[in-house]
Amino acid sequence: MRNILWLRDVKKEDINIVGGKGAHLGEMYNAGFPVPEAFIITAQAFKEFMEKTKLKEKIYGFLKVDIEDTQQLDKISREIRESIEKAEIPKFLEKEIIDAYKDLSEEEPSSLFEPCFVAVRSSATTEDLEQASFAGQQETFLNVKGNDALIEAIKKCWASLFTARAIYYRARHGFSHENSFIAVIVQKMMNFDKSGVIFTINPLTNNEKEIIIEAVFGLGEGIVSGAIEPDHYVLDKETGKLLDSRIGIKNFAVVRSSEGKTIKKELFDEDKKKQVLLDYELRKAWEYAVKIEKYYHFPQDIEFGFEAGNFYVVQSRPVTTTKKEMKDSFRTEEVPLLLGLPASSGVASGRVRIIHSLQELSKVQQGDILVTKMTSPDMVVAMQKASAIVTDEGGVTCHAAIVSRELGIPCVVGTKKATRILKDGMIVTVDGSAGKIYSGYKQLEVPKEIISEEMRIAWEEMKKKRRKVDLKVNCDLPEIAERAAATNADGVGLVRIEFMIAEKGIHPVFYLQEKRLDDYKTLLVSGLEKIASAFKGKPVWVRTSDMRTDEYRNLKGADTEPKEDNPMLGWHGIRRSLEQEEILRAEFEAIKVLHDKGYNNVGVMLPFLISIEELKRAKVVMRKVGLEPCKDIEFGVMLETPAACLIIEDLCLEGISFVSFGTNDLTQLVLGVDRNNEKLASLYNEMHPAVLRLIEMVINTCKRYGVKTSICGQAASNPEMARWLIEKGIDSLSVNIDSVERIRSLL
Ligand code: PEP
Ligand code: MG
Repeated sequence: MRNILWLRDVKKEDINIVGGKGAHLGEMYNAGFPVPEAFIITAQAFKEFMEKTKLKEKIYGFLKVDIEDTQQLDKISREIRESIEKAEIPKFLEKEIIDAYKDLSEEEPSSLFEPCFVAVRSSATTEDLEQASFAGQQETFLNVKGNDALIEAIKKCWASLFTARAIYYRARHGFSHENSFIAVIVQKMMNFDKSGVIFTINPLTNNEKEIIIEAVFGLGEGIVSGAIEPDHYVLDKETGKLLDSRIGIKNFAVVRSSEGKTIKKELFDEDKKKQVLLDYELRKAWEYAVKIEKYYHFPQDIEFGFEAGNFYVVQSRPVTTTKKEMKDSFRTEEVPLLLGLPASSGVASGRVRIIHSLQELSKVQQGDILVTKMTSPDMVVAMQKASAIVTDEGGVTCHAAIVSRELGIPCVVGTKKATRILKDGMIVTVDGSAGKIYSGYKQLEVPKEIISEEMRIAWEEMKKKRRKVDLKVNCDLPEIAERAAATNADGVGLVRIEFMIAEKGIHPVFYLQEKRLDDYKTLLVSGLEKIASAFKGKPVWVRTSDMRTDEYRNLKGADTEPKEDNPMLGWHGIRRSLEQEEILRAEFEAIKVLHDKGYNNVGVMLPFLISIEELKRAKVVMRKVGLEPCKDIEFGVMLETPAACLIIEDLCLEGISFVSFGTNDLTQLVLGVDRNNEKLASLYNEMHPAVLRLIEMVINTCKRYGVKTSICGQAASNPEMARWLIEKGIDSLSVNIDSVERIRSLL
């Protein structure tokens, strides 16, 4: 039994040796199709590795685990994968691999002594069988270069046979673990300037007379992940004639940098809308597609690329998800609300749930229409509950499309604007066969295939563990906006507008008294615009003014400020703003101006709140400027008082988009310790159990109501506190710029 086989040695029956993908690749190579050169580390090499390293006994013993116990399954999976990744490959095997890699590199005339870039893909012996295609089961590593990187990638591919999902999948589908092996394909990476996917049958209509091609500039990752909207061509299979095309707006291309990193490259405006495949390239793709299908006597799903005008096939496999019977789209004269690409056929009606982030996934209930920019593997559980899926981005081979077809639910992708046009809660009907979305219920329910409850629970657990915590930054000064954005934070969790006000030297009451609130508004617009534009597309939460009577006495117009014994407990925050409603209104108007300029990433939050009444009254003011809280704008509250924390359920019921813990004030008020009194510094403890208990209670309540939780007090920059908050399930942390790197390392 050989440990390494070159494509020229592989026959199509060799699935047990080189896995499904490897066998196809070898077969195509030997049938004369233009496949980039590759060698395959056989399933026997994997067996050797497992035996020689003594991992075999250990691992298969572990696999007697109860797969329904998801925690246990996850733990075992992690342990198995770690031991594979840590194990040393036996020397003789390592030498064989390195020698083969050297031979592969020397094939390239321009780089005689340079190791070449390779794609390392796993090829499992139970994968790619006709019924078992499931998006993203095993690993692929692209742009791997150098011996060490190659060995590491190979071990990761081996380990991927034991992800919790893979173990679960095999167990449920009756594949034995002991007989599931994995081969690894090491294939020369072409530096494609155009890539795409061909279906030799229209996967939506089952029309065997058509060929569908999708293509993007650069490498093919963008098309598979759905991050780029590809060109979409429909060709007549017999003549190669272009029957229909839709040119995607390709905002970027995935390319290989000189260091071998896969990077996104912005495209020039004129290139974004350029047709990717020229006529002769379409013709070439058609010719090979027809030949490949003829060869296999079965419709194929082919990944291809062009390098310097030459056509290459990266992969080809049978199309497994075509429908046996085409489900009719209904006929109506009605004008659809929205058009997109038909990605999975069928018709379904339901309530729209717009998902902007993974945290919102819990909004999706059985039968809802899941609307999102683009789906990701973390969304699979919610996608199973949905009766249809609509995305802004993606082509018919993107993640949303593949999974929808697998689940048998209608899907429309590439609508460009579903998340903007559709509104949360509205009823729509999705016609996945025609790529149309209509307002209201339309008849013709299509039965769904729902994945088993066990599978759903297993994924739910895994999703929880992969939960993403956003790391945001506090940014009070417009001048530091660029620097703050350079940290690549996920948004701004706190803008204290007092800083801008103080910089100008004029107290808001001065603008009020002088009837110059327009100047106040202008000041805020110009400052906030700098922050909002530096963080375009990411949330920026602006806090309404929180002017304590002692702190801003030096500003122009502050002479009328009352003298208070306890300004910290005094007239500031939302209680003050509601008494000086014109000032608050000017602040909201400034935010409205920003929204009108397209910065609808700007949200607002209310400081030092203690009652529902305050929230309601602030909403009334917001409505007066023409923005509906929580709908047109993210509308949240700071939790800085024990009162606000204790009424959290009522706040959620009244309607808020998010809460942000202001632990600076919250700590002093829970403990009765003045935050500014250095004498009490040793008592001032943000991790006091009383503070933590309050926070934990709030996070749990907010989760029940789908309200996002965040923190913008100083405590977030304390790694110990940050770790605790992450463990408790907070959705985002907003830290000081200088703490971003440190806290990021915890995520
Ligand atoms: C807080 O109280 O935690 C907070 C962020 O507000 P400030 O520091 O402005 O009082
Ligand atoms: Mg505060």
